[in-house]
Amino acid sequence: MNIALITIGNELLSGFTVNTNAAWIGNHILQVGGNIVWHQTIGDNKEEIHSSLNQVSNDIRAVIITGGLGPTHDDITAIALYEYTGDSPIFDEDYWESLQKRLTKRNLKLPEINRNQAMKPQKGNCIPNPVGSARGLHFKMKDKEIFVLPGVPREMKAMMTSSVLPWIKGHSSGGMTVITIRTTGIMESGLAEKLSEIIDALIDNIKIAFLPQFTGVDIRVSGMDKSAVEQKVDEISIQVDKYIYGHDTDRLEDIIGQMLNVKNLTLATAESCTGGLVGHRLTNVPGSSDYFLGGIISYSNDVKENNLGVAKSTLEKHGAVSGETAAEMAENVRLKLGSDLGLAITGIAGPDGGTDEKPVGLTYIALADGKETRVKEFRFLSDRKLNKNASSQTALNLIRIYLLNE
Ligand code: ATP
Ligand code: MG
Repeated sequence: MNIALITIGNELLSGFTVNTNAAWIGNHILQVGGNIVWHQTIGDNKEEIHSSLNQVSNDIRAVIITGGLGPTHDDITAIALYEYTGDSPIFDEDYWESLQKRLTKRNLKLPEINRNQAMKPQKGNCIPNPVGSARGLHFKMKDKEIFVLPGVPREMKAMMTSSVLPWIKGHSSGGMTVITIRTTGIMESGLAEKLSEIIDALIDNIKIAFLPQFTGVDIRVSGMDKSAVEQKVDEISIQVDKYIYGHDTDRLEDIIGQMLNVKNLTLATAESCTGGLVGHRLTNVPGSSDYFLGGIISYSNDVKENNLGVAKSTLEKHGAVSGETAAEMAENVRLKLGSDLGLAITGIAGPDGGTDEKPVGLTYIALADGKETRVKEFRFLSDRKLNKNASSQTALNLIRIYLLNE
């Protein structure tokens, strides 16, 4: 089903707000058999809203509009739509009362300005809002449906999920299957090489896209035939198995958490250049206290020496950014915190601090388990934030590979 999207808001045009609604809607509509074929972002302006609606072509079955539905002076979407569709708003006494009741329970009084949230179309319908008070609007115009939703992402998503997506699903001939294979530790070109036979043999019904980020490459496989997509995912997985850490919205920290849990192992971290990022990511996972004991952010040499117990001679002889220091950091944090595994990261994040011998981006990651200590050297780039992200991702991946082989 062909669908048009109009996102409304001056703040979207100026870039003060990133248009995340458009991305979310495009993505979720695909999965229920719709397709955004036309999208326009416009300001909070009645004439622009009318002109945008006039541009929607005949082959489009539904128009989704977000933004400007609230009660303030700059919200003119509802007025524009009533005019455009020739409908008129009537006051919904029942809804107004239920709104007032809801607020009285919380000892609040509803401002008069909210009265327009209790308006409903005479001919069209309201779209219920499960998480807020502003309802959406649903108009029918000739052979088109128009869905009007608030701009607030949380409310838009709830209303799309409970009303609009089910409508699209019920009126379309089948959804597209999209499976994302998440890889790390290999570049896009490396993956393309390993998958060249599969890609060359592709026929029209399946699409494969590589989505590279600095922390890994996602491989997106999509098509209308679910079993064909799943079969292609299996074929790809066999070729690049060891680089795959998960699917769709899986995060590396989730996967490691599951693996540590299954193997009943605990982890502690000693972080220098990542400043606690690995600990932050690990603790983003609910239940991480089962396996993550804690960490020492040993940013300065003093802390590396006095709190973590790295030998002065190691620091003097090899430097803070060295395999030797990384190894001692990992071994010592493991002993100090009493964990099964100790992970350490030390590197030059940049932009300054690099030398010919030790350039910006040079990073050592170590993993100690009491029997052996693995140390790996990496050369990332010159951007500080990218280096922190790449270091944390690579460190987590090192744990994943260690656990796979244990
Ligand atoms: P409200 O009742 O809160 O006024 P509204 O329907 O009038 O809701 P807007 O005023 O357009 O919505 O926007 C409300 C909030 O949602 C703002 O913070 C805005 O930046 C954000 N927002 C609006 N449109 C989008 C969008 N397309 N993507 C992401 N955020 C958005
Ligand atoms: Mg508003």
